Amino acid sequence: MIKAIQILRHQGKQFIKDVTKVTLNEPFRGRPVISKIKVDEEALAKICPTNAITVNPVSIDLGKCSFCGECAFQFPAKIKFTSDYKLAANDRKKLIVQEGDDKAIELNSELIRKEIVSFFRGSLKLRQVSAGGDNSAELELNAAGNVNFDMGRFGINFVASPRHADGIVITGPITENMAEPLQICYDAIPSPKIVILCGVDAISGGVFQNSAALNRKFLETHKVDLYVPGNPPHPLTFINGVLELIGKLSRVKR
Ligand code: SF4
Repeated sequence: MIKAIQILRHQGKQFIKDVTKVTLNEPFRGRPVISKIKVDEEALAKICPTNAITVNPVSIDLGKCSFCGECAFQFPAKIKFTSDYKLAANDRKKLIVQEGDDKAIELNSELIRKEIVSFFRGSLKLRQVSAGGDNSAELELNAAGNVNFDMGRFGINFVASPRHADGIVITGPITENMAEPLQICYDAIPSPKIVILCGVDAISGGVFQNSAALNRKFLETHKVDLYVPGNPPHPLTFINGVLELIGKLSRVKR
């Protein structure tokens, strides 16, 4: 017994105390900053494998960016990736980082439906659907619940049945084969329900955006409540975004 207590004391607390103030180190790539120095913009845009870069002025769409880092490797004076992991937004336009921008990405509180905060602030159960995902975003979502990130302490958990869920988290580019199962799962969730797109593939199709094997009609008919960029998204990106969506972020900030 004494030995067990000694081991527990030696290990200390395993969880991250404050998920809003973590310093992530390289090679993590978070919110990019684009300087105003002049470069060959056409050459810069051409190297992007997901068409995330537009020019004149240069901007990066985090909903399309795979965070490969190639633009920053080849144009280090123009583009730098910071360690800011708070990338989630509920306005698709907020995911576009413009030249000269260096401010945090935040949710637009006017776009958050009232029932989300009043119903789900205390407890949010989510059903995850991998709609053609490559298991990377799914692994990070799994990690969000581990002893380190411990998302469950905020009342946010994944559940096995859509009948027990308050919302759906979609990963993957939404393939033709997964379009109908996704709709069936969504329909099985009781209202009110939320929709979260997790990862670049879900938000824009990512490297698969022009594939004929996708069927993304679901997104034309359903409102998205939260976009979580990343390839895959970091667990802290997901946790902070969901906390902000359900109005709990201010409570966990110390
Ligand atoms: S890091 Fe993003 S914007 Fe830069 S080249 Fe890769 S995908 Fe494109």
